[in-house]
Amino acid sequence: MLIIMRENVSQDCIDKVVQFIEARGFQSHVSKGELHTVIGAVGSKIIDPRNIELLDGVQEVIKISSGYKLSSRIFKPEDTIIEVNGVKFGGGNVGLIAGPCTIESYEQLDKTAEQLKKSNVKIMRGGAFKPRTSPYAFQGLGEEGLKMFRSVADNHGMAITSEIMESSQLDMFEKYVDIFQIGARNMQNYNLLKDMGKATKPIILKRGLSATFEEWLLSAEYILSSGNPNVILCERGIRTFEKYTRNTLDLSAIPVVKKLSHLPIITDPSHGTGLRDKVAPMSRASVAAGCDGLLIEVHYDADNAICDGAQSLYPDEYNALYNDLKQIAPVVHKTIL
Ligand code: PEP
Ligand code: MN
Repeated sequence: MLIIMRENVSQDCIDKVVQFIEARGFQSHVSKGELHTVIGAVGSKIIDPRNIELLDGVQEVIKISSGYKLSSRIFKPEDTIIEVNGVKFGGGNVGLIAGPCTIESYEQLDKTAEQLKKSNVKIMRGGAFKPRTSPYAFQGLGEEGLKMFRSVADNHGMAITSEIMESSQLDMFEKYVDIFQIGARNMQNYNLLKDMGKATKPIILKRGLSATFEEWLLSAEYILSSGNPNVILCERGIRTFEKYTRNTLDLSAIPVVKKLSHLPIITDPSHGTGLRDKVAPMSRASVAAGCDGLLIEVHYDADNAICDGAQSLYPDEYNALYNDLKQIAPVVHKTIL
């Protein structure tokens, strides 16, 4: 249920509504917009909305039939803007993240970072715990990899994002990583999502391989309702009948999600296509479609990468793409640093 307060309502009125709903077993989430304050009442109790409408300062009570409330645009009409290391996602900003699929060595990270800096990259990606389809495939360097990544990032003035696979890794990730990534395979790992509510860092929530928009937004809702408002949604391709590309990058996710939700949405054209020469066109198309950012695999020696080399750009290809994106963004009223 969403409670829309009248314009410029007093704090006292807001507090009274919060007390009223909490006393009846609901959790309250207050969002202060430019004009209206909206109070989200989350819970499974039954309450007659007319009893809330009668309270001072209440303009309207909207019953939401979809399960997601805190992530919906009705709850918060303005875009959520998430800023990391000077890079913004949302609110007309396109944030760029680039780096290797997986952390291989200090040299690999250092050489890639050195090159990416020339294209103004301020947030680097790299997996230390890899969710591999086969148990025999390289599983990542673990905490040693994260330590290495932190040290390289600090030397180059970069922030980093890496995938967290289980709740027990939370304290470790807090030490090293600036944005936690929840992978496609874990999009419906509800205990992990709830624990991300306790994280102090923003979360990139990838869309599951066959998740609907509603399921995806409900997963975001788990994180928001557990206390972390900083979620970036990432479209990374869904599984369809088409086999030519690794996945089918669903660009319609961008306008659909931007209408339904205030959360930033980025795309991952690397996993979305699985083919290096398709990454630049789909990145350009993502920006043209209004995305709030991109997550792109780049490796200084892509052909010899341990993981996903075929879908990784070389740094000079990334640089050419960056120059294109800087031209496309203003056409759709967006800013790229
Ligand atoms: C990744 O970005 O490293 C990754 C494994 O992606 P996804 O979860 O989308 O497959
Ligand atoms: Mn990868």
